[in-house]
Amino acid sequence: MTNAVQLPYYGPMKTFTNKQLKDVRVLVDFVRVYCHARHNRSLRTLLDLPPELRHRYSRGVELCPDCAGLLAHGIQKRRTCPLDPKPSCKHCRVHCYSKEYRAKIREVMGFSGRRMIMRGRFDYLWHFFS
Ligand code: SF4
Ligand SMILES: [Zn+2]
Repeated sequence: MTNAVQLPYYGPMKTFTNKQLKDVRVLVDFVRVYCHARHNRSLRTLLDLPPELRHRYSRGVELCPDCAGLLAHGIQKRRTCPLDPKPSCKHCRVHCYSKEYRAKIREVMGFSGRRMIMRGRFDYLWHFFS
């Protein structure tokens, strides 16, 4: 990938657990739907995804800088979540991230969740309501 943006969360020796990977895929999908619907295409740059995600997103993922930052932050929080089993972040008592981030991710999840359901992606219903 040329001109790809390296997500700052990624370290070569770290790998995702299967549960983390599942959540991260949902996060990527939701942030991408939001960015592509709401932000100017000309701002988007190709992300350099970690190897675990490249197979699923073989054509790459393009996001604007704000959404790339939001995604990187969300992935980092998911990777370092101290709780196991992890509750949904909405119902967590720790709330490891800032109010600003929470408000933004809530907006993204709400917007993209509705879009996914309108597209018949009922497999995302659980994430929308949890
Ligand atoms: S808000 Fe809670 S559940 Fe979500 S990542 Fe942070 S500690 Fe984990
Ligand atoms: Zn965006």
